[in-house]
Amino acid sequence: MGVSKNSENYNLWKERLSLANTGKIRSLETKQKISDSKKRDAIPRFWEKVEKTTTCWNWIAFKDKDGYGKFKPTITECVRAHRFSYELIKGEIPEGLQLDHICKNKACVNPAHLEIVTCDENIKRADNQLTTINSKKTHCPLGHPLSDHNLYINCRGRRECRTCLKARKDKFYENHKTELQDKARSYQREKRPVFKS
Ligand SMILES: [Zn+2]
Ligand SMILES: [Zn+2]
Repeated sequence: MGVSKNSENYNLWKERLSLANTGKIRSLETKQKISDSKKRDAIPRFWEKVEKTTTCWNWIAFKDKDGYGKFKPTITECVRAHRFSYELIKGEIPEGLQLDHICKNKACVNPAHLEIVTCDENIKRADNQLTTINSKKTHCPLGHPLSDHNLYINCRGRRECRTCLKARKDKFYENHKTELQDKARSYQREKRPVFKS
């Protein structure tokens, strides 16, 4: 198997970079040329790690703990793959802004599935998604129906199961019985009207 043109470029570039780092190449123009050649080299390397389907373009190389693809365009840089793809095809992402996956597939690098949003908007969308999931639940984890008299909507708009709520309250009372009775007694004592003689 012959050495591919890419890896040849890469080795040449690596050699030049080490020279630049030791100060042997000082010209900015040369450094720029190296940087450009490295960027060109990064693009084919990037697409090797992408598996395109008819909808999502899945990142098949390394992913971080959150499930986002990671890519090293240069030796020292490491970026999120979907951001790299977006900048490559659609253009620069303004500073401080985030990309939201419309397809909800974090490993997807298809720019058509990515939308620029503010950090606040991204958090709001994630919250909404959770609310949508919760609003679709028809039963609580214990299988009681979340409907009619058993459905309780709390002050935050969350749907809760009355049976489970009552069971939790009863259990709490059972566990703190004496403590609560003492409190009730002392409260009554304080509230008792005092008659002056
Ligand atoms: Zn997608
Ligand atoms: Zn329940």
